[in-house]
Amino acid sequence: MITPDSLSLNTATVTRQWNLAQAIDGCLRHGLGGIAPWRDKLHEAGVDNGARMIAESGLTVSGLCRGGWFTAEGALTPAVLDDNRRAVDEAVAIGAACLVMVVGGLPPGSRDLPAARAIVAEGLARTLEYARKLDMPIAIEPLHPMYAADRACVNTTAQALDLCDQLGEGIGVALDLYHIWWDPDIRAQIQRAGKARLLAFHLCDWLVPTTDMLSDRGMMGDGIIDIASYRAMVEDSGFDGLNEVEIFSAENWWKRDPDDVLSEIVRRAEQC
Ligand code: ZN
Repeated sequence: MITPDSLSLNTATVTRQWNLAQAIDGCLRHGLGGIAPWRDKLHEAGVDNGARMIAESGLTVSGLCRGGWFTAEGALTPAVLDDNRRAVDEAVAIGAACLVMVVGGLPPGSRDLPAARAIVAEGLARTLEYARKLDMPIAIEPLHPMYAADRACVNTTAQALDLCDQLGEGIGVALDLYHIWWDPDIRAQIQRAGKARLLAFHLCDWLVPTTDMLSDRGMMGDGIIDIASYRAMVEDSGFDGLNEVEIFSAENWWKRDPDDVLSEIVRRAEQC
């Protein structure tokens, strides 16, 4: 059973309904133990103000979403690197457990996937150099392969862990059930990651059919992911972090009363 205090609300789940202050209040009202803001919500509140609100709430910050997009300009430009350093600073400001990286897909007009992956490896290395000085762990989020072109060209947990091996200390993975549930190698890769590299665990469900590959994620229990078995795998590897609920749902959960969404999250998690 997943208890409410072990849950964290990723603000994407209520992105259409709540600003950061409302999301913090909602977490407290429903007994959640943590929050994981997206940077748009943090910027809208103001980083200093957002950091203060979160600190006063006592909520754990399971992550800041997100840095990355290293390939957006076709090369590692100063703008891309600066933005990633700012993301590290913001993660430090709010006391996040990690900075989640969505690394970017193919540059506009490119067909060269190996080149995109090389940009990503270099971008991670450069950002990690900075993050290490500030003790902020970097978490690579491997994305489902259907996003390789437009969001992230790191697509399996094995590929993300190979990058971690290459880059050394201070970097690990954020595992999101939406992206990893299908992977026949996942059990072995979670064992390989171990406590040191398992930095975040994101929950939702995979609906059948999925009608939109970005914004039709399911609430836990509405799809086909055996959530408890994956939670057991990460715990067996030593992960003791929060269960961060991240549901992009344009036609369903984003249209509902956000207090009902949180009630349902708590109820469904307890059934896991
Ligand atoms: Zn995620």
